[in-house]
This record gives sequence, structure tokens and C-alpha cells, in this order.
Amino acid sequence: MIKESKINIKITNKTINFYNEKNYNCNIGDIILVSVKDLPKGSGQKITAVCDFCGKESMISFNKYNKNFDKYQIYTCHQCCYNKIKMTKKEKYDDENYNNVKIIWTKEKCAEEAMKYDNRRDFKIKSPYVYKISGKNKWLKDITSHMLEKVKPSCYWTKEKCLEEALKYKYRKNFQKNSSSAYVISYNNGWLYDICKHMIRLGNKSKRCIYAFEFDDKYIYVGLTYNIENRKEQHINNFRSSVRIVSYFIKQFHKMMGITPVAYRRKYQRAIPPEEIDWK
Ligand SMILES: [Zn+2]
Repeated sequence: MIKESKINIKITNKTINFYNEKNYNCNIGDIILVSVKDLPKGSGQKITAVCDFCGKESMISFNKYNKNFDKYQIYTCHQCCYNKIKMTKKEKYDDENYNNVKIIWTKEKCAEEAMKYDNRRDFKIKSPYVYKISGKNKWLKDITSHMLEKVKPSCYWTKEKCLEEALKYKYRKNFQKNSSSAYVISYNNGWLYDICKHMIRLGNKSKRCIYAFEFDDKYIYVGLTYNIENRKEQHINNFRSSVRIVSYFIKQFHKMMGITPVAYRRKYQRAIPPEEIDWK
């Protein structure tokens, strides 16, 4: 608040109109007693400001007082201004102690973060920054000790274990993608051929299957794919937009008679079923 309710002002040629409009009826050079409420906001006139928290008084200009006072209608001295900072934080972040200063990631802080996860994978994906820092400082072992051991111990992947794993998959591609350790170990030991015997070999860009959809009215749709089962699925279930037109065609107008692999590109001239194909 301001201690004075009225202060003496010397009228100049710049201020005379302002005060006369407020009915002070004065002349240039007059010293008149003006109510603080009538001072223009930007006035440099000195007033006695009283801190609304501690009561400390200080002489400051009226415009400085207004800058301090305006937002919360509270005047604070230099020592008490943290109160208003708190109010601003409360308003902005709903937390008067909000601290946007960078967190210093000590080992304890990192451990705290790690406790949110029960396996390293989630920790790495969801808190990559903390994970990286912990790795750099060699804290990972300590701070992840509560996590489930997902990593297989060394020597776990024998040929039998790899076969067991391989049997879960229909294609080598999925085996490689989802059980990469078993796949790599099998590859390095030369077991892949043995343990992947049950799998269906997919083609590639040059070894692709030409297939045909036959319809009861003698229409035939001919396509090219390296995975005939997937493609059939795609055609029938609208899976991909580029093949959707075929499924639309099938559903709207034709009864599908069956899908037949006709031939494999390049190597084969005659129609040949996939199980007879020598993929080497
Ligand atoms: Zn104060």
C-alpha cells in the first residue's frame, strides 16, 4: 500500500491540463495537494510504499509502485517478492514450489526413476535420458537390481533350445525379428538349416510367386507376391489399400474359386505349387 493518501505536486505546463480536468483548478507553478488516486499511473512522483507482507517502507516512484502492485494488487518489498513468485507458479503450474531448474540426475535420482519400472526394456524406452545417464555412470547394475531378469544367462542357447524357439515360428523372418538372440546364435553355429526345416520359405524381390484368383465367371486376377498366404489374407480382408480393390471386386461381383500359385518368376516356366519349389 501507499502510506500517503495525498501528496504535494508542483504543476508544470505538461501536467496542468491533466489536473485541471480533474477539477484541481490550478496554474503552472502552483504546488497543490493531490489525492494519490488522481496521480497518472506513469508518474515519476516519489511516494512511500509499504510492503504488504512485512510492512517495510521505501521511497519509490509511483510508476514503479504500480508495476509491482498491478498484477496481484499487492506490493512487496525486495525481500518479500518470493511470495508473489509463488503465487505466479501456483497460477501457472498449480504448484507454488514448481521448479523448472534442470534436475541434476544423481545416482539416487536415477534410482528413484528406475523404481518406476520392473524391467530394463521399459526403463530404456520410457526414460531414455535417465537410462543413458545411468549407463554412462555405470549405475545401471545397481539401480536396476529390483528388475526382473529378462536377459538369458550365457550358454543358455543350445541347439535344442534354439530349435524349441524356432518351432514357434512359421517364417524365418519372424524368427529373426522376435527371437533375435536365438536366431543369431543358430546362424553363427550353422544350425539354421536344421532348426528351420518346418518353416515356410518366403520369396524375395526376384523370387516371387505369380498367383491367380479364379472366379466362377471365368475372370482371373493375376498378381505377384513373395508371401502368398499373406497376400491372400490381404486381398480378402481389406488389409492394405493397394490390394483393397481386389477384395472389393471379389466381394461385390464374384465368387472366388480359389487362389492358385501359378509359377515362380524367372526360374520356373510352368505352374508349380510352392511345396515343390527348390528355393536354392
Ligand atoms: Zn517485505
